[in-house]
Amino acid sequence: MNNFVFQNPTKLIFGKGTIATLATEIPADKKILMTYGGGSIKANGVYDQVKEALKNHSVTEFAGIEPNPTYETLIKAVEIVKEQKIDFLLAVGGGSVIDGTKFIAAAVVYNGDPWDLLIDQNKITDALPLASVLTLPATGSEMNGNAVISKKATHEKLAFGSIKANPVFSILDPEVTYSLPKRQVANGIVDTFVHVCEQYLTYPSQAMVQDRFAEGILSTLTELGEKVIADNTNYDLMSNFMYSATLALNGFIAMGVPQDWATHSIGHELTAFHGLDHAVTLAIVQPSLWRVMREEKKAKLLQYGERVWNITTGSDDEKVEAAIAKTENFYRSVGIKTKLSEYGIGSESINSIVERFEQRGWKLGENGTITPDKVREILNGCL
Ligand code: NAP
Ligand code: FE
Repeated sequence: MNNFVFQNPTKLIFGKGTIATLATEIPADKKILMTYGGGSIKANGVYDQVKEALKNHSVTEFAGIEPNPTYETLIKAVEIVKEQKIDFLLAVGGGSVIDGTKFIAAAVVYNGDPWDLLIDQNKITDALPLASVLTLPATGSEMNGNAVISKKATHEKLAFGSIKANPVFSILDPEVTYSLPKRQVANGIVDTFVHVCEQYLTYPSQAMVQDRFAEGILSTLTELGEKVIADNTNYDLMSNFMYSATLALNGFIAMGVPQDWATHSIGHELTAFHGLDHAVTLAIVQPSLWRVMREEKKAKLLQYGERVWNITTGSDDEKVEAAIAKTENFYRSVGIKTKLSEYGIGSESINSIVERFEQRGWKLGENGTITPDKVREILNGCL
């Protein structure tokens, strides 16, 4: 096992009726900015629950944080926070609203252009306290310090990670997920699945407990995937799905293991250039990445195939291909297609994406072996 330090300061409040606890979780003297997205919380009653719980607090609202939250929108909230001397942020929504709110929290106390924080996360030395009411199980943003922010002007999408940006607490009531459209349920399943793989499907790490944890989450997702697509109003299924998404990216399965994250890095570029949903980019990139990196990842692909998909016969190469094919079929079974051409996209952005990785000098993958040439090969395999 690799050396590690584990610290997660986020308090998790899980279950039916828990939004009401906002009344006591946020100190009464705080000036709150409540952030949210395009209005789904007004249609499903979450907005009313939050307002009722905070009826004795001072609350200003900032609506309109879009999916793949943009610098251009968030910078407006930074101004409001400064003007009104807000001292607590409450994100109510999915990963985009929570990520965007983390950016606001860090940007408010930063002297300089806040985009710097996406270029160099070491510049995040402080942040306003924030909390979240999660409405979409997917990103794990409710219990980590990561944020992914887009800049419309330059078609960029970059991430930071800082413990300063962890929510103080997050409220997860699975009943609020009943209003999710199927597209977002599917996105959540795929994003969660890929988060686990980014930390599990790396070189053999001798992290036996973490492997079993990871395989437990992956198997849970394969078991409930099609069921929650058919009906996302079953409390037991949605609570297990919601808990899986949090566990997938709150640091638990990351302890002592090498991490990949190349699927995410390449996927972010596909969103930046083509506007594809985050999870869709992952379902497209991951199978191709595994095929290109199959020799380096062979031992783990075989373990994954056997333990998650029960693949036990055939040559090693056949078993690896079967594991990748099973994964693609799983994404398709929840309604997500796995090729760029199926979204009407060709090779037009490949040169630009590869150039970006060349300019940044990033070494992707758990061994730093995914070079720009490999990125090109992976993208060609996505067509
Ligand atoms: P999202 O972009 O937050 O939300 C997608 C859509 O779902 C929005 O239109 C939203 O509507 C709607 N929605 C949310 N909850 C709903 C509900 N209960 N009922 C009905 N509609 C609902 O989706 P996401 O997948 O959670 O977040 C994706 C973003 O997170 C991407 O930018 C991705 O790069 C990032 N990400 C972050 C991390 C991390 O660790 N922080 C990890 C992976 C990905 P409203 O606009 O009305 O809210
Ligand atoms: Fe993700």
